[in-house]
Amino acid sequence: MKYIFVTGGVISSLGKGLTAASIGTLLENRGLKVTLAKFDPYLNVDPGTMNPFQHGEVYVTDDGAETDLDLGHYERFTHAKLSRLNNLTSGQVYARIIEKERRGDYLGKTVQVIPHVTNEIKERIREVGKKSGVDVVIIEIGGTIGDIEGLPFLEAIRQFALEAGPQSSLFIHVTLVPFIRVAGEIKTKPTQQSVAKLREIGIMPQILICRSEKALGKEVRQKISMFCNVQVECVIEELDVAHSIYEVPIDLRREKVDELVCRYLGLDAPAKPLTDWEKMLQRMISPSRKVQIAVVGKYIQLIDAYKSMYEALKHAGAALDCAVEITRVDAEHIEKDGAEKYLKGVAGILVPGGFGNRGIEGKILAARYARENKIPYLGLCLGMQIAVIEFARNVCGLTGANSTEFDQKSPHPVICLLEEQKGVEVKGGTMRLGAQPCKLVAGTKSRELYGAEEISERHRHRYEFNNGYRDQLMKSGMIVAGRYSKYDLVELIELRDHPWFIACQFHPEFLSKPSKAHPLFRGFIEAALKHKPS
Ligand code: GLN
Repeated sequence: MKYIFVTGGVISSLGKGLTAASIGTLLENRGLKVTLAKFDPYLNVDPGTMNPFQHGEVYVTDDGAETDLDLGHYERFTHAKLSRLNNLTSGQVYARIIEKERRGDYLGKTVQVIPHVTNEIKERIREVGKKSGVDVVIIEIGGTIGDIEGLPFLEAIRQFALEAGPQSSLFIHVTLVPFIRVAGEIKTKPTQQSVAKLREIGIMPQILICRSEKALGKEVRQKISMFCNVQVECVIEELDVAHSIYEVPIDLRREKVDELVCRYLGLDAPAKPLTDWEKMLQRMISPSRKVQIAVVGKYIQLIDAYKSMYEALKHAGAALDCAVEITRVDAEHIEKDGAEKYLKGVAGILVPGGFGNRGIEGKILAARYARENKIPYLGLCLGMQIAVIEFARNVCGLTGANSTEFDQKSPHPVICLLEEQKGVEVKGGTMRLGAQPCKLVAGTKSRELYGAEEISERHRHRYEFNNGYRDQLMKSGMIVAGRYSKYDLVELIELRDHPWFIACQFHPEFLSKPSKAHPLFRGFIEAALKHKPS
């Protein structure tokens, strides 16, 4: 088994996760099996309790781990099946060590960063490899070289590579080569210093991936090569993409990254054309139609907060030869000015997941606008709960209907906690999480879109559809299209007197792939195109 360690230099937000994922795409294209993992040096056990403004989306794996959004890129760019093993944080490492120490496992020794913390990290690297049984394990270290909290991780990968022996591991450093406009020059010093810092702790990166807005040119490449002690052909240029993040694998391949990786790791895996990927990209960047979709949410300023959802919309667009133009609407603005001002003329309305009171009434107004004006509506998780509240209030006449998340004294708690959630006090890792089966009802739109009776989708929520109101809502025209039969939980709803109104309790966006759009997203865009042909 071979290991690639990807580190980042100079600044954050360089697209290290996308770069790691793209290397995965290229290696898979050569017939190699890969898996990817992210090691995050922060002290939270997982990002599940963090504010989306701090951290962006929380990505959920099949086994119900709440993880970093880079795992979303990994699953979208490769066939790797990720689990809770694939996202390690300092919080997890320390929690484990303290548990062992209290148990007396260290037999009287002083517990220290080296070797105890580093051993835990190395153990996880081996575990990821062993459990996945792949040819290449790609591990991305979160944060930037120079961060104090990242040091134990760097020390661990240094030791790991030493112990694994020659040709077993490879260090790739993703760095920034800025263009200074006033000087009209590309500057290599930040990269030199970042690599110097890595070398100080004993890591010699063999490949440098230089993020830049301008082409590097031969001289700059030679300079970086000389000062950073890296072969000149291993100084890779990764320019800002022109249209789509799905260009990154193609750009890296042009720079022969996959060839270099195979050479360094002694992998005999011949190159093949990237035809399918290129076709998908072509459909994505030069579609012949377009459609306007409004996303009504609370974390609307931050693209990362709904990362997978935006990607899933793009995938659906690509499948239908259609550019999905997104109007991001702050739910609180709808509360102030009404829905019409922001939603008039759009071809589809999407309400994504979310937590807490803020913006709820605005989202309810958006769902009402979609229902009354027969505009295609897709509700994800909270977006389904909102649709149920709206229908209960305005169609069934249940005044004050609400979720007990927002109003504990609601006379009609159409969304509420199940008994087993009522006593839960610990916030981390205690929601309904991960993949669960759902049975679709014959004759529904959902059943037709999925083309299957039994599906599996990922969850991340605490509140549920209240079955006490099911008959009443159904009598008024709500269709329960999918259920988790074992616990009789409502997972999917549709509206009878509406051309396309589907809302689900799960998060379909986590299963959408660039070359395989998710059926619900695809159906939604198709309906939007029909509603308002461009
Ligand atoms: N806040 C809601 C719940 O906990 C919805 C969660 C979500 O949209 N992910 O049930």
